[in-house]
Amino acid sequence: MSDSQATNAPVGEPPKAPDLDRLRKTLDTYMNEKGLRTTEQRRLIVNTFFDSEAHCTIDDLLEKVRAIDPRVGYATVYRTMKMLSEGGIANELHFGDGAARYEIADDTSHHDHLICETCGIIIEFEEPLIEELQERIAAKFDFTITHHRHELYGRCKDTVACHARRAKQRTPGDLSNKE
Ligand SMILES: [Zn+2]
Ligand SMILES: [Zn+2]
Repeated sequence: MSDSQATNAPVGEPPKAPDLDRLRKTLDTYMNEKGLRTTEQRRLIVNTFFDSEAHCTIDDLLEKVRAIDPRVGYATVYRTMKMLSEGGIANELHFGDGAARYEIADDTSHHDHLICETCGIIIEFEEPLIEELQERIAAKFDFTITHHRHELYGRCKDTVACHARRAKQRTPGDLSNKE
C-alpha cells in the first residue's frame, strides 16, 4: 500500500449496530441447551441490556431495571449478565477502574476501544486494517486468534466536555460513560 493511500483512507469508523434478532435467537438456543428458564426478571434484564448504551456496569443496569421492577436484586442482574457472557451474547470488559462493563457481543461486528483516562469516555471504532494486520501477524506465528481486545488509553479531545464528565463522576477514578 502506498503512503498516500494509507494517509487518505478513512480509518476507525464507528461500529455497525448489532443484530438483536439474531442475538435473541442465539440466547434462546443457549438457554434451551442449558435448561435455563426464562423468568420475567431475566427477560427484563436482557431487554434492558439490549436497550442500554454500550459499556454499562451491573449498577447501571440495576438502576434501570429497578425503575421498572424494584424487586430485582443485584445478584439476579449479576447472574444474568454472567449467563449472557457465557452464552456469547455479552462481552465483559475491564478498563482498569475495577468495574466490570458489559456490551453486546456480535461476532459480525467487532470493534475496539479508545478510553479517556481523564473523563472515562469510551469511544468505539471498527478498523479492518487492524484486524487484517492481526491476522497476518498470527499467521506468521502459525497462531489461531479466537478473540482479541485492543484498548487505547489516553486523553479525549473536547476538554470542556471532558472536564464536565470528570466533574460528574460519582467517585474519583470511576470511569463512567454517561453520554
Ligand atoms: Zn464497545
Ligand atoms: Zn476525556
